[in-house]
Amino acid sequence: MLGVIGHPIGHSLSPKMHNAAFAASGMNYVYVPLDVSPDRLPAAIEGAAALGFRGFNVTMPHKERIVSLLDEVEEAGRVAGAVNTVLIEDGSLRGLNTDGSGFIEACRAAGVELAGRRVLIVGAGGAAAAIALALIGEGVAETKIVNRTAGRAERLRDRLLFMSPETEVSAGSLDDVEEAASGAEVIVNATYLGMKDEDPVPVPVGCLESQKVVCDAVYRAGKETRLIEAARQRGARVVTGDRMLLYQGVQAQRLWTGQEPDVEAMNDALT
Ligand code: NAP
Repeated sequence: MLGVIGHPIGHSLSPKMHNAAFAASGMNYVYVPLDVSPDRLPAAIEGAAALGFRGFNVTMPHKERIVSLLDEVEEAGRVAGAVNTVLIEDGSLRGLNTDGSGFIEACRAAGVELAGRRVLIVGAGGAAAAIALALIGEGVAETKIVNRTAGRAERLRDRLLFMSPETEVSAGSLDDVEEAASGAEVIVNATYLGMKDEDPVPVPVGCLESQKVVCDAVYRAGKETRLIEAARQRGARVVTGDRMLLYQGVQAQRLWTGQEPDVEAMNDALT
């Protein structure tokens, strides 16, 4: 048994994606949506362990709160302050964050080389932190983080510098986004902007030049975000949020099953 804990959870594409892989490969797992209100989170995770779940994903609004409820949290989860995947072994709950590693695998699958690149991340929440840590692990040349709340970007910069003092990381506010985007080779949106039709594009469209790579953590069912649309129109290479969703799921499934997931079946279920 596997599942995804969130509130609400009906919109999640994860059950469809994971169950498609289990059906295709004949692996004996089932993945269920679990709607858990914040006040029931401690009881729910204890219950999952008691019921013999192998693990579960965690989504909004529980990704941060769950960190303090687990027996162990791996580095990416600690730096991000957020966990999206839990593995249960002998009743012990281990928290991981596969958003960053999923992002890297999505870039790799799209043929995007990250080592030595100058990167801009817009946003400084859990997804931004996981992506930033993973990018540093890939050996990017420089990471700029800009965020609506500049202080949050600065705190993330400080955490990253504490982990990797030799790395080149800077922080700023959205006032800096145009300058930062002009100088970046890879641009990543890790804010909520793009989830709604009326949202502004998080980066000035003029900065989305054809030699750049534009990545969006945001995904929308059956629709591309305005950032991705604008980047495509200007000839930039893109990595969409549904690719990141796919590969964070692939990474989680590898952890739970110890086997190589059927990526094609997962991809078909998403598209
Ligand atoms: P989070 O921790 O709550 O952080 C939200 C971020 O969005 C913060 O940087 C916040 O800025 C910024 N933000 C929110 N509203 C904004 C606005 N109106 N204008 C500018 N910035 C705004 O959330 P998260 O977990 O990092 O998730 C961020 C996005 O990534 C979400 O859309 C989520 O669905 C997506 N995501 C996708 C995947 C995937 O697999 N594709 C995985 C994880 C997350 P402040 O700090 O100023 O509030």
